[in-house]
Amino acid sequence: MVQQETWTVLKVLTWTKEFLTQKGVENARLESEWMLCAVLGLDRMGLYVNFDKPLTPKELADYRGMIARRGRREPLQYILGSQEFMGLDFAVAPAVLIPRHDTEVLVNEAVKRAGKTSSILDVGTGSGCISISLAKALPGAIITGVDTSVDALAVAEKNCNTHGVAVKLLHGSLFEPVQGQQFHMVVSNPPYIPSDDLKTLQPEVRDYEPAGALDGGKDGLDFYRQIVAAATDYLVCGGWLLLEVGIGQAEQVRKLFFDNGKFAEVFAAKDTADIERVVG
Ligand code: GLN
Repeated sequence: MVQQETWTVLKVLTWTKEFLTQKGVENARLESEWMLCAVLGLDRMGLYVNFDKPLTPKELADYRGMIARRGRREPLQYILGSQEFMGLDFAVAPAVLIPRHDTEVLVNEAVKRAGKTSSILDVGTGSGCISISLAKALPGAIITGVDTSVDALAVAEKNCNTHGVAVKLLHGSLFEPVQGQQFHMVVSNPPYIPSDDLKTLQPEVRDYEPAGALDGGKDGLDFYRQIVAAATDYLVCGGWLLLEVGIGQAEQVRKLFFDNGKFAEVFAAKDTADIERVVG
């Protein structure tokens, strides 16, 4: 008699940890648990008390599908469809950059400097993570998010609906959709990776995240140059421009602000690893 092999929770986790580790995934066990949680509709505690439970053929097939994708180094966030940022859950899709915790420094610095009813422009809003976090923190503020990608704007809109905030979402490049308007604050996490460095990134980023959200041109500073040059036309007197910068870029971006001559006060803010992350 041929006996059907039983795949229990513990057995699949042990197997997939091994498989994903071989594929170069660092936190293979934990990520396996998260994906299995999603398939079974359980939290991790739920998994742990069900180690001996066999998976149904449907559950096994769904889980296999996720593991195959992760084995090809697709980011876990695209597979699960979400990423936490500022304590909020954001829907993500391949059209948007996955929100990074580094970007929380920008949100915190913006909240510190914004007034309760400030008008704020987010250039390159992507998933809308910055705009929506600001809208949550500053309920009286008027927030506008701009992006060149229609698909990204659809994700941002979905996130606005989920979080019950009204962000004005506009399609276009940089300041183009807000010609003639002025804001109390402009924030942006622009693409800032030097073009030649894109191919050296880990496969999750290089092969799956939108190149348009990463590629900052030859030296990575293209968008900083354009934003700094144009921003003062879109800021009220006394308004702030806050930009996230990549590791080692703060000095060059600060110089762009100084050389522009229209910024009276320029600061840099560090992340928890003591790296300068925001210039404003
Ligand atoms: N504003 C979005 C974020 O910070 C998207 C940024 C981008 O695509 N460069 O995640």
